[in-house]
Amino acid sequence: MTQQHLNFIDGQFQPNAGGARIEVINPSTQQFIDTVPDSNAEDVNAAVAAARRAQPAWEKRPAIERAGYLRQISAKLREHTERLATLIATEQGKLMDLARVEVNFTADYIDYMAEWARRIEGEVLNSDRAGETIFMMRKPLGVVAGVLPWNFPFFLIARKMAPALLTGNTIVIKPSEETPLNAFAFAQLVAETDLPPGVFNLIGGARETGALLVGHKDIDMVSFTGSVAAGVQIMTAAAANLTKVNLELGGKAPAIVLADADLDLAANAIYQSRIINTGQVCNCAERVYVHKDVAAQFTAKMVALMQSTVSGNPVTEPHVTMGPLINKAQLAKVARAVELAQSQGAKLVTGGKTVAGASGNHFEPTVLTQCDHSMDIMREETFGPVLPIMEIDSLDQALGLANDSDYGLTSSIYTRDINAAMRAARELQFGETYINRENFEAMQGFHAGRKKSGIGGADGKHGLLEYTTTHVVYLQTSA
Ligand code: NAD
Repeated sequence: MTQQHLNFIDGQFQPNAGGARIEVINPSTQQFIDTVPDSNAEDVNAAVAAARRAQPAWEKRPAIERAGYLRQISAKLREHTERLATLIATEQGKLMDLARVEVNFTADYIDYMAEWARRIEGEVLNSDRAGETIFMMRKPLGVVAGVLPWNFPFFLIARKMAPALLTGNTIVIKPSEETPLNAFAFAQLVAETDLPPGVFNLIGGARETGALLVGHKDIDMVSFTGSVAAGVQIMTAAAANLTKVNLELGGKAPAIVLADADLDLAANAIYQSRIINTGQVCNCAERVYVHKDVAAQFTAKMVALMQSTVSGNPVTEPHVTMGPLINKAQLAKVARAVELAQSQGAKLVTGGKTVAGASGNHFEPTVLTQCDHSMDIMREETFGPVLPIMEIDSLDQALGLANDSDYGLTSSIYTRDINAAMRAARELQFGETYINRENFEAMQGFHAGRKKSGIGGADGKHGLLEYTTTHVVYLQTSA
């Protein structure tokens, strides 16, 4: 057992109390990779207590000092990009190039958040009384619990840790049970920095461990990224202690393609949405509304692109353009969604099956046409390389259908008409809209979903302030 596969609590790698372990499986080969701790209540209590002990002294440090520790971490990550990328691609199944982007983006993100050290501002307010000064300070919340999904497992550590630590909170992270190894590698690198003990803690575990953590009475904020179902359970558990929640949940992003669109641009960007990370990205286009005048042309381009995809093991076969789905359950879910769509009247144009002879969880890139809103494939998150297409007559109809959804994370439109684009920007009920470009958010933006896609958001100034609370002080002096 290597040191990096022990819980990291109070600056020490320690065995978990019950000794239970979780097996990690390579989704490209189905082979066993390694095990990590399956933490119980004792471990959760120890991690939260360590974070609580460390927090007051961490908060007292000037923000610029906290930023210095964050920069030590980002520098460590950059020294190990290739090793970390290989680990991420092995346990999660994304392409090596995307895994490298994930590591570098993670380091850049930590540096970006560190830059805010001198920029967090309070306010001074006019008083109704003579001689009084009212000022509003920004303070940390205390101890944050970060619960992570498997699709961008490495980046999500930083998306929660960097703003939390920069603003003076301490954190306990629980990675996904599907992809924990990269998080233990992250902790190993944190341990090589001067970060004070207890400021960053990591515990392995599955949903039971997550439930113990988010329901813990000594947590001040739960920052969660994952499914809607888990988000509801987490909010319910947090309600018992009135703990603040920040929830980044699922999506069903619409892409609208109007008759005047650059069809090559639209087809390429939407194709990327469906195959990048094997379609397992919350913000990527999952349903298309294409104008009937260009529907045949658009569909032909999409089918050609989908059929050009090369599936395989991203780590051992460098030429592959798409890896496996995360696990057997996800493979079965995607296959079921495609079957159900056909039984509800959709037409299968290409794909639709698991990849013949593949050892991993590989599904064929799939295009479905003749889709409409009576079908689950236009309403439920699929999280796979499957694109349902519906023909529309007008922008009005497309906007109505795009908004006819339980989700409100991201959306996109392809058009050369500035009036149509601006109408979409005004009327789409989503946290983000991409106009004539692929769905990928910027770290200085604000990634926040409406409806069932979440509560609160991440990134940029607004994401940073989510990890703070206000404190208003009324100072009366003689007039
Ligand atoms: P998941 O909800 O199954 O699991 C996410 C994490 O929550 C895991 O660590 C799991 O152990 C834990 N968990 C599950 N149930 C819990 C509970 N009741 N209490 C506490 N912890 C619990 O999600 P997943 O399958 O890992 O990730 C895929 C989902 O994440 C998709 O729906 C996707 O859209 C969403 N996602 C959203 C964003 C975003 O920014 N909005 C980003 C990435 C992924």
